[in-house]
Amino acid sequence: MATDYEELKERREPGYRDVNERLGDYMEVERTLSIDEGKEQALRCMSCGTPFCHGYACPLDNIIPETNELIMEDRWEEALELLLFTHPFPEFTARICPALCEGSCVRAINDQPVTIRQLEKMIIEKGFHEGWVKPRPPARRRTENIAVIGSGPAGLAAADRLNKFGFNVTVYERELNPGGLLLYGIPNFKLDKNIVKRRIKLMQEEGIVFECGVNAGSDISYNYLKRRFSAVLLTGGTQLPRDLNIPGRKLDGVIFAMPFLKAQNKRIIGEPLAPEEDITAKNKKVVIIGGGDTGSDCLGTALRQGAEEVYQFEILPRPPECRSEDNPWPLWPQVDRISSSHLEGGKRRWSVTTKKFEGDAGGKLKRLHCCEVKWIKKDGKNFPAEVEGSSFTVETDLAILAMGFLGPGPDPLADKLALKRDNQGNIAVDNDHMTDMPGIFSAGDMARGQSLVVRALADGKNAADKIAAFIGPALRR
Ligand SMILES: Cc1cc2nc3c(=O)[nH]c(=O)nc-3n(C[C@H](O)[C@H](O)[C@H](O)COP(=O)(O)OP(=O)(O)OC[C@H]3O[C@@H](n4cnc5c(N)ncnc54)[C@H](O)[C@@H]3O)c2cc1C
Repeated sequence: MATDYEELKERREPGYRDVNERLGDYMEVERTLSIDEGKEQALRCMSCGTPFCHGYACPLDNIIPETNELIMEDRWEEALELLLFTHPFPEFTARICPALCEGSCVRAINDQPVTIRQLEKMIIEKGFHEGWVKPRPPARRRTENIAVIGSGPAGLAAADRLNKFGFNVTVYERELNPGGLLLYGIPNFKLDKNIVKRRIKLMQEEGIVFECGVNAGSDISYNYLKRRFSAVLLTGGTQLPRDLNIPGRKLDGVIFAMPFLKAQNKRIIGEPLAPEEDITAKNKKVVIIGGGDTGSDCLGTALRQGAEEVYQFEILPRPPECRSEDNPWPLWPQVDRISSSHLEGGKRRWSVTTKKFEGDAGGKLKRLHCCEVKWIKKDGKNFPAEVEGSSFTVETDLAILAMGFLGPGPDPLADKLALKRDNQGNIAVDNDHMTDMPGIFSAGDMARGQSLVVRALADGKNAADKIAAFIGPALRR
């Protein structure tokens, strides 16, 4: 193996399974590097004086250069310990994080970044494989109980940390299974649902109680929570999708992305689907409106379900292939991202807006009326303007709206307590994650708005620290 940086290898990606093979199933598409390849990649990490991956980019403050050094030296168990020191669940981000760390890897100033996310996957999966990841219940239990509402990454990270502090933690989840968007949103081909279940089992073995099928604020009241718990943490996520209020919006066949993705994930985990939930793209002409990650998840799902054809439209122009001058390192690179789903099929178009949905006499969606736009600057803001003569129609049976989220929306508990919202509609919290009601905290997408798993994990961890400080030290018995 090379020891001189001049001789170092290039960035190596593990790649994906063959397209034809992976379109026939819903299993994870990304491969994993071999141990030797991983060590070679770790060697590309330069132990830079100021590692921007760690202090600047990673919301969890993962200690990346030192972890990579341990990999280089084949000290995997120590690498695992160091990773788990900052990161509660590396197996999730190792699969689905956009890897903010890689965007600011010092090596990427004039080369390709280190494959940090892939190395994280190798460490944690080796940890599970070797039996190094075990239930670690707290040495001592405290007397106080804490309720976490919502079991997405923010709720899980908070529950994990509070449990490690010795509190008795109950997680309430309104779905039938815990995991939030890790389970019901992100497709199985990116994050296998058995990976989520494996972690939940471990958390249960560590003493965390999960009560599923419970809508807090509706099935259980605040008075009930107040009697039983010293603090309540709300991590209900963003539930309100951005709509497209144009003519024909109410036609049968115009749906939001989440019910579409959720239906497929429910099939995979064997949960029952009500007839109105049982949506599929099989034999349909599909248009996905929204060019982001959720749209790309819908694309991969529609292709696997056997859609006849799939388009993905984005109103913004296509981003550049490489960083532009006003987007220098170490900022997150605003470049065109090609997901595994984009490599599987479908047609992407940019700078396209939809003006009207047209249906048949029975109220079923038949076609979309669209046009191209160009972006013009007015009063310092960018606006889309229709390109004359660019109108076109697309025959469609299923239009999937994947245009982001507008905050938590109505929430039974927050609304009954009339918790203050910020000007985006998120739950307003102070620097300690506390709402305007003492003892009620909020974290994750519910408080910060639509974001990433890694930020939800970091928020959950921080909120747990603030809750522990709010409750104070354990009383001596
Ligand atoms: C389709 C899709 C794909 C994504 N892909 C990625 C990706 O690849 N990488 C990435 O980093 N991020 C991704 N994201 C974003 C990421 O999933 C979220 O930022 C993250 O899950 C937010 O975590 P959270 O814990 O705040 O909320 P959520 O994961 O939304 O969890 C909230 C949970 O609270 C429950 N809940 C709500 N109200 C109540 C109540 N009253 N009582 C009980 N339970 C309640 C909900 O049922 C849900 O289970 C994706 C998002 C979507 C929609």
